[in-house]
Amino acid sequence: LPELKDKVAVVTGAASGIGRAAAIGLAQQGMKLCLVDLKDERRDQVEKELHELKAQVMTADVDVADANRVKEAIDAAARQWGRIDMLFANAGINGVLSPIEDMKPEDWDQTLAINLKGTFLCVKYAIPHMKQQGGSIVITSSINGSRVFSNFGMSAYSTSKAGQVAFAKMAALELAQYKIRVNVICPGSIQTNIGENTHPTPELSKIKIPVTYPEGSQPLEHAPGQPEQVADLVAFLASSASSHITGTELFIDGAESLI
Ligand code: NAD
Repeated sequence: LPELKDKVAVVTGAASGIGRAAAIGLAQQGMKLCLVDLKDERRDQVEKELHELKAQVMTADVDVADANRVKEAIDAAARQWGRIDMLFANAGINGVLSPIEDMKPEDWDQTLAINLKGTFLCVKYAIPHMKQQGGSIVITSSINGSRVFSNFGMSAYSTSKAGQVAFAKMAALELAQYKIRVNVICPGSIQTNIGENTHPTPELSKIKIPVTYPEGSQPLEHAPGQPEQVADLVAFLASSASSHITGTELFIDGAESLI
């Protein structure tokens, strides 16, 4: 994908999992990167790995739910590199998993603030820097926001992920005039560190839904997907190989959502 060389990408949730793999994949295509995550030693490690690849990298300590910090970081990236061509709005948490009856309003708010409002803020503050030359925005939703609603206790998560799908489509239509494409990816289970930000409550066992999870829940590979597989999709969506694709949900789940 040679046309990505020296273009600029902002990647959120870049310290771990899908964001880390995408940052490495985009750097391998020659992109300059702004890595956005909470202050985290894992992000320093990713920055080191990228320097070893001779990538041009800057980092920003940002809670994506904090409007001022998001704006500062994206503006700083644009100042440093002169443009922004790609935004990968990917940071997210599973958050507290609880029956709706027991869900604390503040836990609901936290999941929605990071996953949904965070996505809105990153897109909003990237637009002024992408308008001149156009570009690509990719948002990480989930099969749990579009096809699969049977994961116990995930009402807040699934709502946030469904919201991202609607938001991506609105943004795709609105930003087409600037040649900014917006797509949303819906991964199935991917092997990452998301378990660290997953907090099941004891009350979960109260949910009685007649659902059975099949063994080997990804028919294609009988295993969770790998972040690098998602990173390949992100690089494709960043590049002009996907120049006519916008407003689309792309599932990357080994057919997990079809069973
Ligand atoms: P991960 O925990 O490995 O990485 C997520 C990163 O986001 C972490 O580095 C974390 O520090 C960062 N982050 C969390 N809250 C943040 C905040 N407020 N501000 C800035 N950064 C923040 O998890 P992952 O699986 O790579 O998750 C990436 C995205 O993929 C998420 O949006 C998640 O919902 C989505 N997703 C994951 C899976 C899966 O099975 N792993 C499936 C579908 C969708």
